[in-house]
Amino acid sequence: MASVTLRGVSKAFAGEVEAVRDVSLEIRDGEFIVLVGPSGSGKSTLLRLIAGLERPTAGDILIGDRVVTSLRPKSRDIAMVFQNYALYPHMTVRQNLAFSLEIRRVSKEEVGRRVEEVARTLGLDALLKRKPAALSGGQRQRVAMGRAMVRDPQVLLLDEPLSNLDAALRVEMRTELKRIHYTIGTTSVYVTHDQVEAMTLGDRVAVLRGGELQQIATPLEIYRRPANVFVAAFIGSPSMNLVEASVGSGGLSVGDVDLPLPAGVDLRRYEGRTVILGIRPNDFEDAAMVSGDGPALETIVDLVEELGPEVHLDVRLDPARTGSDEVGILRFSSRGELSTTPAIAAGGQGTLRAIVDARTQARRGDPIRLTVDPRGFHVFDPETGLAIGPDGDASPPHEAEAAEADAAPAAPETS
Ligand code: ADP
Ligand code: MG
Repeated sequence: MASVTLRGVSKAFAGEVEAVRDVSLEIRDGEFIVLVGPSGSGKSTLLRLIAGLERPTAGDILIGDRVVTSLRPKSRDIAMVFQNYALYPHMTVRQNLAFSLEIRRVSKEEVGRRVEEVARTLGLDALLKRKPAALSGGQRQRVAMGRAMVRDPQVLLLDEPLSNLDAALRVEMRTELKRIHYTIGTTSVYVTHDQVEAMTLGDRVAVLRGGELQQIATPLEIYRRPANVFVAAFIGSPSMNLVEASVGSGGLSVGDVDLPLPAGVDLRRYEGRTVILGIRPNDFEDAAMVSGDGPALETIVDLVEELGPEVHLDVRLDPARTGSDEVGILRFSSRGELSTTPAIAAGGQGTLRAIVDARTQARRGDPIRLTVDPRGFHVFDPETGLAIGPDGDASPPHEAEAAEADAAPAAPETS
């Protein structure tokens, strides 16, 4: 096992804008890092750069303390697992698992021992004599994992390995991957566009957009303190609501509705200006379900989804009681562009999403009063999109730097 370090890594393809732009990050020995971002954000390119399948146009890549930037893939001691498994169809599971060791002239006994061990870890013991065609999708994926693990590489690279599985199997394999990582402990870099996979699998999650690293932090840190409005909207499902709010001396207002200032956010510099207020769906509640009278929005129900343990609502601000004609709701398109729609717009564009108690009586077309928990408010600078922090500064320190400082071992002063 080894750490992986990227220093100012960029990759430009001929005739393309840079697919990866000036990415620096440090993956610790034994860590499971997830690279997540929308399609085209540079995830696969970054992984292929680490693998040596692409050469960076700038920057350096280290595995352990060895600079590998110009080394070929097979000199890097990495193993890669792809979405399409790439198993040898004419070989049995045992032969597929053994192949990479055999071409490296590992002794027969050692090959047998390692194949048995990996097969046991992955629950493939009973399938060793089968050929890929006789396996289910999940089993094939497990063999592909096994083939990477059997070499005991320094670093395991996985590019959307669960994408070809159906939803139920994905969840099952996700849990299994986590268990495997606990068992083998190999430094792993895992690429996905699925933020739920990212949150559940990663020790830390690196969010990419347009080839640039947006934030790298633990899943909880990313969820609680997204560095910018893109990360805020991308991580969390359903997505965080983004609403235009104006900053007054005593608080925020959305249309005519006054809301308290969130604790720990200094908005003095923004007084008299519009900011982007982020509210996660679960920070709303049907006012009929709570005692007491906190801040609330008067809305009209547009859509009801009964999920069992909770109910998801799409609601529209009630223009008569919120003065919402001027309020904009912001959304990212699938291509990652932020656009603003009036809150009263029809057709689902101007709606907010709320997760409320399953006992709600909400019906489509009815008015509903939704309380909001200001402790969950996120506030973003409308120009830069950066989160506004406790010092009123829209440039929070990068978690990576803070974590690196924390994690720096108290090395004995030898040289
Ligand atoms: P992701 O894996 O996040 O979907 P990729 O890393 O595959 O994104 O691609 C990032 C960008 O680089 C995209 O715009 C893509 O079109 C471009 N790209 C990727 N590989 C090549 C290539 N071999 N030649 C030219 N452009 C490429
Ligand atoms: Mg990709």
